[in-house]
Parts: sequence; structure tokens; C-alpha cells
Amino acid sequence: MTSSQLTSSQVTSSQLSGQTWLIKGVQPAGGPATDLILVGGRITETGQGLTATGAQVLDGTGLIALPGLVDLHTHLREPGREDAETVLTGTRAAALGGFTAVHAMANTEPVADTAGVVEQIWRLGRQAGFCDVRPVGAVTAGLEGSRLAELGAMADSAAQVRIFSDDGHCVSDALLMRRALEYVKAFGGVIAQHAQEPRLTDGAQLNEGEMSGLLGLAGWPAVAEEAIIARDCLLAAHVGSALHVCHVSTAGSVEIIRWAKSKGWRVTAEVTPHHLLLTDELAASYNPVYKVNPPLRTPADVDALRAGIADGTIDCVATDHAPHAAEDKETEWQVAAFGMTGLETALRVVHAAMVETGLLDWAGVADRMSARPAAIGQLDGSGGRGAASPFALVHGRPLEPGSPANLVLYDPAARSVVDPAQHASQSRNTPFAGMELPGQVIATFLRGEPTVLDGKLAR
Ligand SMILES: [Zn+2]
Ligand SMILES: [Zn+2]
Repeated sequence: MTSSQLTSSQVTSSQLSGQTWLIKGVQPAGGPATDLILVGGRITETGQGLTATGAQVLDGTGLIALPGLVDLHTHLREPGREDAETVLTGTRAAALGGFTAVHAMANTEPVADTAGVVEQIWRLGRQAGFCDVRPVGAVTAGLEGSRLAELGAMADSAAQVRIFSDDGHCVSDALLMRRALEYVKAFGGVIAQHAQEPRLTDGAQLNEGEMSGLLGLAGWPAVAEEAIIARDCLLAAHVGSALHVCHVSTAGSVEIIRWAKSKGWRVTAEVTPHHLLLTDELAASYNPVYKVNPPLRTPADVDALRAGIADGTIDCVATDHAPHAAEDKETEWQVAAFGMTGLETALRVVHAAMVETGLLDWAGVADRMSARPAAIGQLDGSGGRGAASPFALVHGRPLEPGSPANLVLYDPAARSVVDPAQHASQSRNTPFAGMELPGQVIATFLRGEPTVLDGKLAR
């Protein structure tokens, strides 16, 4: 896309968001009720008893308003596996889950390891228009773990890649990991590691422990994750570069990250909703919907992960939304694909695991699901060449005048059973199917334009 085309599409998006919205009586981050006025893609006014001539009015009584959620870890599967998900279906699912920005992982076919592929994904996201799509670039060419991909070219591309990951694979070669950290340091990039020592997990099917012994399936030891995290924290410190740890799943990993942070090292981490709520006991059913990488762990691990997100050791929740076509998932455990969908249930699961348990308040949820992931992905407007533009990709800002009108309205009093048939994702592999969860996303706004209204896609 040339720069003149980019400008004209920005003008179009500004016209689309030209509608004025008056949202009455919502509670920003669970605080006191207020009205919000959205004009031209921004929040222009907050306060009691506001009026706005010609505005669309939305009654937000009883609803919590959060800044639009930001996911650091989404698999959109396009290009290559459009039978499992496309950028369009995946971003529709994201909008229904309250997200206004997602980071699309690089393990597509072809792999997102060049400027051409990341720009293709970025462009598909803009065309879909349901949320901002930030491509993650591969660390190594073809995810093969042997030589670095074109990191600089991806960073300089229109997609402005800032996070690089071989997710699905671990960058297990210590020298290559060091080189990647050194390379991205020059432009303030981040290496997001899928921490899994491959020699310790060859053929592994689920968490190594009582359940794996009972079921006779090859176990996946916690140390396979923890050893890589410890090594990478040391490498990041040595190089002075930024490491992000994907989907932390064990109590030991939380301890290592807490230690690394106490040293002041540039280490951030995420946890998935499913690791905050589910345990390996579910594998007793042999239902492959519970097969995921990293695996579901023990109740003690879940407790440690919740404590880690509560005290900020783990920076954020990231979905690791991993849609799979039915033929890859609805099969025997040993041959089924790893992964679960998560975009449409993430906020509700965090509500159940963290808010209903009293471990986190709504301001904490806004921080862990919007502000902090936006900062890690450099979407918080604090720097970068997009920051000066009024239509820059800025997310995670508090809901106050001047902030982009990226927000989600959420009904905390709702409760319902998760029905995957209602999901917009192309795939149905949610482990929460049939489970009653609290809450419901009522509306999502992207730069002042509703993507979801009354709990349904707005278009
Ligand atoms: Zn992963
Ligand atoms: Zn992943």
C-alpha cells in the first residue's frame, strides 16, 4: 500500500467514526458512574448529566466501561489455514470479546517472516475493520530456528512490527536467542518467547505429574518451561534487551519472573485465561479440547498464576486464541492439535478467576488486559512514529477526555452458559463450552465506531 492510499483510508475511517455517541451512566474501570461523549473517534467529555445534540444515546446503567482490550497473543491462521480462522472471523471474535487490538502470531503458512507477509496481515486487518491487527514477526526464518528472519525489514514495514516470536516453537538455541535480543534492541523491539525446552518435551501430551502417570500419556515437565525462562531472563539482562514470556503456566515460572523483575531487568510476561481457570484434571476425560501447549497444570500452579497476575509479576492476560478445524481437534488425544479458542471468553474467564475471587478489581483488569499489553506492544502512544497522528494506533489509555474512543462496555451481573455455536470464530474448540461464566460484553467501540452493540456484531 502506498502512502497516498493509506491517507485516503484514514480519512474514510475518520468519516465512519464521525457519529457522536452519548453513553449514559457507565462505570469506568468499575468506578463511579459517569456519562461519556465520543466524537470523531475520541472521548471528548466525561461527567454527570451530559447532553449532546444529535448524538446516538446508549444507556450504560449497571455497565462497567474498560479501555478496549489488547491481546498480545492471537492466532488468526490467515494466510494458510483459512479453514480454521481468517483475519475477518478472528477479529469479529475479538470485537465480541471486547478487544480493540490483537497481535497476530507469526506461525501462518507462509510464515510471517518477511515485510511482505506482515504487511498482508496488517492490510487484511484494516480491511476487516473490527479491531487493529498488529502482526508479530517470526524470530527465525520459517520458524526453523536456524537463522534470524528479516527483523529490521518487518519493523520498518507498514505493519511496524515491534514484537517478534517463533510461537509454537521455542527459540531453543541460546546463541540465536542472544542475537535476536541484540538485533531488536536497536529499534526497541521485543522478543516474545514460547518457553519450551524441546529435548525435555519430545512427544509430551500433558503436564508431567499424577495425571500423566494415571492416563499413561507422556508428561510435560514444568522444568522444560522454567529452564528456558531462566536462561532467557539472564540473556535479556546480559544484552540489555526486552524479553516477553508467552503463556506462563507454572508456579516456578512465576518465581523466576518475580526474581528477574526484582533485578530491574526488562522482562514482561503473560498468562492465558485458561491457565487461570482450568487444571490438568480435565484431561481425565481424554477430551482433546483440553489439549493445549503449554499444558494445563495443577491447582497449585493455577493459584501461583493468579497470585502472579494479582501482584503484577505477570504483566498481562493474553488469550493464545488457537482456533483449529474440527478434523484437527475432534480426534484422538495423541494426534489432536494443541490449542484452544479464547477471544470471546477471555474477559468472562478473568472475571471468574480474578474478580469473583477478590484477587483483582476492575481497575486491575483494565491494567492487565488493556494498559499493560498496550505498553508492551508499544500501542500506548508513549513513543514511536505513529504517536503524533490523531488516528494512530493508540490503545490502553484511561477513559478520559482526549483518549481515543476505544472501549468495551461489560455487564458484570449477566451470567450464561458458553455456547460455541454462538461464536464468531470459525473454530469451535473452546474448553469453556457448556460452562456457566459471569458477565457479558454489551458493546465495543473502535475509535468511536461500534463494532459490537447489544452483545452482537454491529455490522
Ligand atoms: Zn506458544
Ligand atoms: Zn500461541
